[in-house]
Amino acid sequence: MKTPNAFLGSLPTTIFTTMSQLAMAHGAINLGQGFPDTEGPAELIDAAAEALKDGRNQYAPLTGLPELREAVARANGRDYGLDIDPATEVIVTSGATEALAVSLMALIEPGDEVVLIEPLYDTYLPVLRLLGAVPRCVRVEAPDWHLPEDALRAAFSAKTKLILLNSPMNPSGKVFSPQELDLIASLVLEHDCYALCDEVYEHLTFGVKHIPLMTRPGMRERAIRIGSAGKSFSVTGWKIGYITACPTLTAVIAKAHQIIAFSSAPNLQRAVAKGLDLGESFFTTLSDSLRARRDLFAEGLHALGFPTLPADGSYFVVADISAHANGRDDVAFCRDLVVESGVAAIPVSAFYDPQGAEPPRHLIRFAFCKTEAVLTEALDRLGRHFSPQEG
Ligand code: PMP
Ligand code: GLN
Repeated sequence: MKTPNAFLGSLPTTIFTTMSQLAMAHGAINLGQGFPDTEGPAELIDAAAEALKDGRNQYAPLTGLPELREAVARANGRDYGLDIDPATEVIVTSGATEALAVSLMALIEPGDEVVLIEPLYDTYLPVLRLLGAVPRCVRVEAPDWHLPEDALRAAFSAKTKLILLNSPMNPSGKVFSPQELDLIASLVLEHDCYALCDEVYEHLTFGVKHIPLMTRPGMRERAIRIGSAGKSFSVTGWKIGYITACPTLTAVIAKAHQIIAFSSAPNLQRAVAKGLDLGESFFTTLSDSLRARRDLFAEGLHALGFPTLPADGSYFVVADISAHANGRDDVAFCRDLVVESGVAAIPVSAFYDPQGAEPPRHLIRFAFCKTEAVLTEALDRLGRHFSPQEG
């Protein structure tokens, strides 16, 4: 008998689902998969519920409800000084996941090279490989997540179609600096290619400002910017994403969106439009609250002998397990952590190309987007098994 697609057949179930299932089976606190354990803003939930009773139940327009596209354009202006045409430069998608996939579909021809920065989010490589692209991975290295200029330069070639940049970055929490963005922009121009910018954590930064690559000179026509309502409004189940790009790119991205999802839930789109207009004070409150929880959790981990790496943005902090590993790698350590301590985390080696060089095996990622009570309970549980003297 003929067989289904071999590449997809061989793809393992995502580590986030695996660890969430393991956490459930063992009654563990789930600091693995990145989702908040509190509700999003009441005004958004109410707006979504009301829209369901208000005739918002048929297909939305292909590129998104006008009110959401207008809100995305306004937010681009307010937050970053970008002048965006809501009619031709915004596309609403079913989550950033779809936005990434359709943007890649729109850019890539088989054989094109794509520069990526490891550790990387787990949907990038499978989509690239399905499209026949050739990944060129560069690593930011622990403990400071430094971006090596020589390696980045060497990853670009005449065949490079795009660089995929995730800032703020999952899992490292790195927020790329203005100097790093300028370097990337200069390489994009030098090699006449594009930049696909996964900016889902744009509003979740702590003490540093997120700068979209699109705001750097020459990038307005070459960068595709992706946002996620799930992350910006703490409603990860909603799966509403938005793409901002120049019209020559959105024209092609819209074709990919047309054959993959066509449109996304209209009531949620209406609510997200309201959310984007909440503006700066809402996002400041959200990031201040997350920052306090990052500090609480990172300090607790340090006290237990798990040094943490710098994390200026996102839901995540990476910890070094070396002092407590006793010969175990990050995968074995995370499994034992669920079963023995009742806390779930994600092994960082899962964020590296399985076909690439050996990844680091001494790092694990914790999601701190949980209530203080839950984080404190997780630290208590860890404290019963680990002490700083160990190792
Ligand atoms: N990119 C990154 C870096 C992420 O962490 C996530 C998390 N879910 C996504 C994209 C996908 O976002 P969405 O849930 O909106 O599809
Ligand atoms: N982005 C989330 C994380 O990194 C997971 C999303 C998913 O489970 N697909 O934890």
